[in-house]
Amino acid sequence: MSTVGILGGGQLARMMALAGAPLGLRFLVLDTVTDACAGQFAPMVVGDYTDPSALAQFASQVDVATFDFENVPAQSAQWLTERVPVFPGPRALATAQDRLAEKTLFRELGIPVPPFAAIGTLAELQAAVQGIGTPCILKTRRLGYDGKGQFRIKTPADVDAAWAALGAQAGHVGLILEGFVAFQRELSVVAVRGRDGEFRAWPLTENWHVDGVLSASLAPAQVEDALRDTALGYAQALAEALDYVGVFALELFCRDGELLANEMAPRVHNSGHWTIEGSETSQFQNHLRAVLGLPLGSTRMIGTACMLNWLGQMPDAGAVLAEAGGHWHDYGKQPRAGRKVGHATLRADSRKELADALQRVGEALGLQGQVAPVVRALESA
Ligand code: ATP
Ligand code: MG
Ligand code: MG
Repeated sequence: MSTVGILGGGQLARMMALAGAPLGLRFLVLDTVTDACAGQFAPMVVGDYTDPSALAQFASQVDVATFDFENVPAQSAQWLTERVPVFPGPRALATAQDRLAEKTLFRELGIPVPPFAAIGTLAELQAAVQGIGTPCILKTRRLGYDGKGQFRIKTPADVDAAWAALGAQAGHVGLILEGFVAFQRELSVVAVRGRDGEFRAWPLTENWHVDGVLSASLAPAQVEDALRDTALGYAQALAEALDYVGVFALELFCRDGELLANEMAPRVHNSGHWTIEGSETSQFQNHLRAVLGLPLGSTRMIGTACMLNWLGQMPDAGAVLAEAGGHWHDYGKQPRAGRKVGHATLRADSRKELADALQRVGEALGLQGQVAPVVRALESA
């Protein structure tokens, strides 16, 4: 029986452990806090990701290691790689950890990106804002998630405020300025690549964010076949360039029928949570299969599915559980403003049935605003 080590013990690790149980897998989670939510289902080592004794204790007990958290320091990932197989490998992780490195790679691969520039000083920011134009977004190169570490520059007059907010990070995690994309839709490709290079992608997903945080996902996204094929082609090119092993997500903006890459996530992804009930093989199970060198499962979809994120605190489960295709995921976390505490997936055989179920759930929970864009997308198709 194999033991899979997971660096980071959040909900992604928790869902991985749940998906691995039927495969007879054991898990060990390394996290910095004792109450990490994956710890409810897997034994834990508690320690910093750079703590040699925690890393050694972790490495000595696992057959293979993977990530729930993409910001594990590259040196720690490298140290582990010298002791146990680690997937995805340190190069893929290092690239995906750094917005500048990832955007540079996208461009090299012919994947369109918004204009961007590395920023080290206020003078560089001023020059880049001139060059790229407004609106634009200043972001930390590393360690950002859920829209944290970002400042939107609407006019050149915002430059000083942006520097005041993030300038101190320039020498620490680095900064990047990106052109703001006036997109009509956000899409993601969730895909998996095996140790033998086999590549599979789930149907394209459409996503809606609120204040930089994912709010809802719908699959399959209603897009033309050519656009879907282009998106999947970008994901495959990226996976091959990085010799990637495991599940990853590629986030894309769609503007006037053109795709622009935003970022990649070197791990299972929030926009792929619908695959647990909405596809033959979930992203969590396929990630485990990939890192263990097992045959990959089919990514075929079962009907149509929508995932709703629960932020801050869990709503009442009743309305979702009352739906024929309603599925509930409570991560067992303490409520906190803005925190991802759970999600629901609604699955249906037709788009009409899914739209009706979403309306009922939105009304019952007072979350009409969260379901509205998804219902609109379903009805416009
Ligand atoms: P996560 O890793 O949780 O997806 P993050 O903190 O890495 O988020 P991004 O994905 O870069 O942040 O940005 C979060 C959201 O902010 C995007 O999904 C998009 O809605 C918006 N956004 C980010 N960059 C741009 C941009 N250049 N143009 C327009 N919108 C953007
Ligand atoms: Mg990100
Ligand atoms: Mg993102």
